[in-house]
Amino acid sequence: MKTKKTITIGIDIDNTICDSYPAYLEKYNLKYQKEVQLSEVLDFYYLNDLTDKEGAEFGGLIDELVLSEEFQISLLPVGEAQKVIREWTDQGHLVHYVTARPVQMRKVTGQWLEKHGFWHKGTRLDLFDEKNGFKSDVDYKVSIAKKFSIRLFIEDAGQIAKAMKIPVFLFDRPWNQGKLPANVLRVKSWGQIREMLPVKIKASLNGRIP
Ligand SMILES: [Mg+2]
Repeated sequence: MKTKKTITIGIDIDNTICDSYPAYLEKYNLKYQKEVQLSEVLDFYYLNDLTDKEGAEFGGLIDELVLSEEFQISLLPVGEAQKVIREWTDQGHLVHYVTARPVQMRKVTGQWLEKHGFWHKGTRLDLFDEKNGFKSDVDYKVSIAKKFSIRLFIEDAGQIAKAMKIPVFLFDRPWNQGKLPANVLRVKSWGQIREMLPVKIKASLNGRIP
């Protein structure tokens, strides 16, 4: 019997393939004349807290940017992500983008993925739809990974990586520092993920974690 050598790879979007946080931070610094650096963002929601403190209306700048198609489409991809993902799909792996972006952002997210060459044959995209009854973004991503037999995940949110029961590559970001379980590997680049992927796939197909 021929053994299947390809898998479905789950990939988060923001701060994993899309360099979002620096762009949000730049808008904040510009609007409120601040100089907050990315290295200061030790909690992912730090920027939300800062904008709340500016006394803006509910949601304020962040919600405004989330819903701005002009801003969203202008975001830049993370270096080498496109090249590495392209290689995987050429090898027959399936890519499933699983983002906690609200479902209202589906159109602009699809456009952005196509614009930067992230969309290939068989690619899937899931966004967070509150109508589906998920309790949190953690619950949502873990459920999608299970439902679609995702064997490996690439993420920047520590709490999501820790909740996954599959191998995870966690992008090293200021907001996800600290100890990690054995199935989560901290990485600094897409080049590093490319090197490690065959080892992880082999382990995953043999039913071993990590
Ligand atoms: Mg993310």
